[in-house]
Amino acid sequence: MNDLKRLVRTIPDYPKPGIMFRDVTTLLGDAQGFKATVAQMAEPYRTVPVDAVAGIEARGFILGGAVADRLGCGFIPIRKKGKLPWKTIGQEYALEYGVDVIEIHEDAIRKGERILIVDDLIATGGTAEAAVKLISRSGGTIVGATFIVDLPELGGAKKLRSLGIDSHALMSFDGH
Ligand code: AMP
Repeated sequence: MNDLKRLVRTIPDYPKPGIMFRDVTTLLGDAQGFKATVAQMAEPYRTVPVDAVAGIEARGFILGGAVADRLGCGFIPIRKKGKLPWKTIGQEYALEYGVDVIEIHEDAIRKGERILIVDDLIATGGTAEAAVKLISRSGGTIVGATFIVDLPELGGAKKLRSLGIDSHALMSFDGH
């Protein structure tokens, strides 16, 4: 875990003052680091039935595709508004200033399918909570949510646990 943590680059004051941006591109660019990351993200779900991984745009696509391949299941993209070509279901979520929307294809999930959520990082949990709502509204059951990085002070993992969602992260960082 410490080896993987050393591969994450921290960029102070990006994209705005006060934010410590945890840049996982340096981890993904390292062959052994990427392999170990995908293996460890998938590990808690190897013995659990999973029908599909839902990856959140954009870094959740890189990780989600690899985790899905490892678990031998399908991949479903959750994208920013207006990007998916077929009919969609949308879910609003709060940002610090204003709101954003993520979308899923309306026929991406069949009723009762077991879905694993994948993203690079959980902070306030707003994005992951919107993904939980989208998957539930689509008829899916959430098996869990797996991340590289947790920022526990922002309460996202706690929020997921309060919704009854099993959540895993490979490492955590203090602060924002
Ligand atoms: P949240 O909805 O607050 O849990 O934010 C999670 C999303 O925002 C993830 O998709 C992350 O990629 C991104 N994000 C939030 N905070 C950071 C941070 N400090 N460093 C890198 N990415 C972040």
